[in-house]
Amino acid sequence: MSDVPKTHPRYLSLTLRDRIVRGVEQGITSIHGLIAHGRGEAFDYLIAEKTQHFATAAIHAAAAMLCLAKHPVISVNGNVAALVPEDLIKLGQVLNAPLEVNIFHTETGREQKIKDHLLKHGAKEVLLPSTEAQLDYIDSNRKFVHPKGIFKADVVFVPLEDGDRCEALRKMGKDVVTVDLNPMSRTAQQASITIVDNVVRTLPLLCDEIKAFSDKNTAHNVISQYSNEAILQKVLQHIRNANKT
Ligand code: ATP
Ligand code: MG
Repeated sequence: MSDVPKTHPRYLSLTLRDRIVRGVEQGITSIHGLIAHGRGEAFDYLIAEKTQHFATAAIHAAAAMLCLAKHPVISVNGNVAALVPEDLIKLGQVLNAPLEVNIFHTETGREQKIKDHLLKHGAKEVLLPSTEAQLDYIDSNRKFVHPKGIFKADVVFVPLEDGDRCEALRKMGKDVVTVDLNPMSRTAQQASITIVDNVVRTLPLLCDEIKAFSDKNTAHNVISQYSNEAILQKVLQHIRNANKT
């Protein structure tokens, strides 16, 4: 951690920057991840760096969808591995779902480094992409997945996703739950449920919501009443109103 005092007004934000920078130094996060993080910071400003009502509603629906999933899988990239390793592991435990590494830039054994990082933080099992199973509709190396993980999944929880892969997963008939601070990204637009919030705030709330869900009927009702499009409209409305003077 750099020498930022706790009293600094942007202490939290600077702490997250440090985690991402450390991720790059450790070979977990791609240098491109710094740009994605910066974009996230800008959008976080626009929602006052708080979990807003539209995110709470999406988290509720996401909990319902993940509870109903037969084979949920948590897809992990270099940014989330650096920011929230423990929370990802907790989510995996609560859902009884595997973590699977899936990244765009596979330089210098980064997949294995992410796996080792998660194991060090207490994960029991971490799946890696394999050449045994491939996603359709996608040409990059992100098409390689694990046959018992993303390939088999009916619901994929994939925070900070890339639009191409989100679209491929949807075309393959899988539901996608994402966390993305940009309500206009292709991922946000195409996912089944988009939580527009910072992943560091979302994950603990999502774990609590999942634990609180008791019966499947309630979960079905929540999903049938949820509209991702309507939620994204609320986000845009919120951003426009927040910036009126
Ligand atoms: P898309 O491919 O979906 O059109 P993009 O190419 O603009 O999106 P990517 O780099 O593929 O962006 O994905 C990174 C996304 O993650 C960005 O939309 C960014 O706002 C978001 N993001 C970055 N950091 C966080 C964070 N901590 N929490 C939630 N979202 C974040
Ligand atoms: Mg992208």
